[in-house]
Amino acid sequence: MIVDKIGRKFNSLRVSLTAACNYACSYCVPNGKRLSKASNELSARELLKIVRLLQDAAGIEKLRITGGEPLISPKFDEFLEGVMQMDLRDVSLTTNGQFLGKKVELLRDSGIERINVSLDTLNPMRFRQIARGGSLDSVLKAMDKVLEAGIKIKVNMVPLRTSNFSEIVELLDYCLDRDIELRYIELMRMGHLLKGNQFLQDYVSMAAILEKIGEKYPFERTDAPHDSTAQRFLVGKKGSFGIIANESEPFCRSCTRLRVSSDGYLYGCLSNSKRHDLKALLSLSPEKALVSFQSVLANALLDKKLSFQGETTVMKFIGG
Ligand code: SAM
Repeated sequence: MIVDKIGRKFNSLRVSLTAACNYACSYCVPNGKRLSKASNELSARELLKIVRLLQDAAGIEKLRITGGEPLISPKFDEFLEGVMQMDLRDVSLTTNGQFLGKKVELLRDSGIERINVSLDTLNPMRFRQIARGGSLDSVLKAMDKVLEAGIKIKVNMVPLRTSNFSEIVELLDYCLDRDIELRYIELMRMGHLLKGNQFLQDYVSMAAILEKIGEKYPFERTDAPHDSTAQRFLVGKKGSFGIIANESEPFCRSCTRLRVSSDGYLYGCLSNSKRHDLKALLSLSPEKALVSFQSVLANALLDKKLSFQGETTVMKFIGG
């Protein structure tokens, strides 16, 4: 197993099935432009081969399927089936939920136990302003079906000062009522937010989120696993919520994440645009590929920064 000088290793892999997305979230992409497929996106079979090699070379135990929007990719069903057959401790999915309703039976039958749904607002008009695609109603209906199927949901919300700030508690109420864990994600300086004022205008800190929640609920901080990116809080017996405090309490020093983009590049750090091409390694014999993967992994581990410094890459390209 490859470990860096502060003890970080790769344990958790995010695979982006496609860079394409049916949303154009205001904080993710500029000018309402939806993202299209990257050129030369890999097939499900090629991506599965990469996952197997990373499992052997790095000891990956956790895998998250992401994108772009993974559920618009025709590879989704085959990829899910493939990873569910691997001996991974945890497989999950991050989706915007728009086409989730159609995938509930498939997800249930696959044995996946939990998924994350990105949902920034419960207000249909605000939904259109933020997501710039899709409909709120389809997401809410799909989440009900997922819960009925016995699959756990975490909701990801990015609070934005000029937009959904007033819904911090409303969304928490919605989630607590349904036994869903809400995760607030502090806005990150990615893509177009790295320059200009939008980040400064919209960023909401963990302290501001907690202050808002404290107006309604008493809460207490609870332990989260060492490599968890979220700070977790209990709201009495009602449930819990988390905050991914990229800015306020960066977790770079314990980050175990590794990312593979849909066009076959390996990224060791969200705050570093350095990437490593895996495509050429796919035609090697299994023994040679394993050796090559180990050396690529050692380089990718060196890419990990000690703090998040922002990055021009759009999140959707490298699997948010
Ligand atoms: N389409 C899927 C979805 O919506 O969940 C997966 C990809 S999306 C890029 C993954 C997550 O990244 C979403 O929860 C989204 O809100 C988050 N995200 C995108 N840009 C972000 C930013 N600048 N800061 C914080 N979170 C961001």
